[in-house]
Amino acid sequence: MIKVAINGYGTIGKRVADAVRAQPDMEVLGVAKTRPNFEAETAIDKGFPLYAAIEEREDQFAAAGLDIAGPVAELVADADIVVDATPSGIGAENKSLYEEYDTPALYQGGEDAELVDTSFNARSNFEDAVDADHVRVVSCNTTGLSRVIAPLRETFGVEKVRATLVRRGGDPGQTSRGPINDVLPDPVTIPSHHGPDVETIFDDLDIDTLGMKVPATLMHMHSLNVTLEEAVDAAEVRDLFGDESRLFLIPERMSIDGSGKLKEYALDAGRPRGDIWENAVWEESISTVGRDLYLFQGIHQESDVVPENVDAIRAVTGSADAEESIRTTNEALGIGF
Ligand code: NAD
Repeated sequence: MIKVAINGYGTIGKRVADAVRAQPDMEVLGVAKTRPNFEAETAIDKGFPLYAAIEEREDQFAAAGLDIAGPVAELVADADIVVDATPSGIGAENKSLYEEYDTPALYQGGEDAELVDTSFNARSNFEDAVDADHVRVVSCNTTGLSRVIAPLRETFGVEKVRATLVRRGGDPGQTSRGPINDVLPDPVTIPSHHGPDVETIFDDLDIDTLGMKVPATLMHMHSLNVTLEEAVDAAEVRDLFGDESRLFLIPERMSIDGSGKLKEYALDAGRPRGDIWENAVWEESISTVGRDLYLFQGIHQESDVVPENVDAIRAVTGSADAEESIRTTNEALGIGF
């Protein structure tokens, strides 16, 4: 069993903890938090040993009636791998701790690509992370774009990608985020930083991205235009995507008109927290005009990176190849509606 430590038990960390626990070849050694709150209480209720991310704050947990298993350094020392799911920039500060104990680490998309040996998306560049010590699982948006670009590149060739990312203002729990009554070009400069981030996954990809922020919390929405190297029928693209385990093609018959109904469907289907681990691509939107492909896809920012973290654990520990890991992760989580 691969012993996994999770440092940072928030939106991403708590989902990764549950996903790791569901795997046949992994166990959660413990999770680390900076302060007691509802998530700390849930961690204890679920039976995850809880470690103090900041040693001086250990007494705060005791005051809240929460048992602490020890300091985070102890957890890092005993683990085969750490998943750092702390807020942007904190992962970089934590790197020296992981190096001190010679424990390989995964970081999240909020960290800089320069921090790590390689950035990671299971479908696109699993092999780059095999036996690496420091790996960054790319952001929700970059994950969503990579999953679509990889099969298109392999099958038809990609000349140029243009994507407009309509991003949720904040996650449902992020009460301080916005906008609450506006539509923002964000960043206002073009192209946005998202394109270069996708280029950390693919060599020689030509991609320009534009970002916006809107008063929504449920999901991001991508409007995508991919110029392929050959003229392709939309039906061929639908068939290609239909074979991709982490692309969910929303059929017209479901009458899912947006993120609201998508999330409702995920909840009805019994998904934990209403999570949608797959890209949700509107099948009817897949259209071609000559070599130009167009589509809309919804990206559930809180969960699409979760299976990717699980696969990155297997890549870094050298315990499975891409195909086996993706299959195991998918089966254990129930990926595919
Ligand atoms: P979050 O704020 O929900 O959770 C972070 C957790 O880390 C919190 O519980 C916080 O208390 C804890 N923490 C803070 N400082 C810490 C420290 N020094 N040691 C240990 N824990 C500490 O954040 P999140 O949304 O889960 O984001 C985590 C990372 O994942 C970021 O890099 C982010 O960019 C990336 N990411 C977020 C999303 C998303 O939409 N939420 C999607 C993809 C990637």
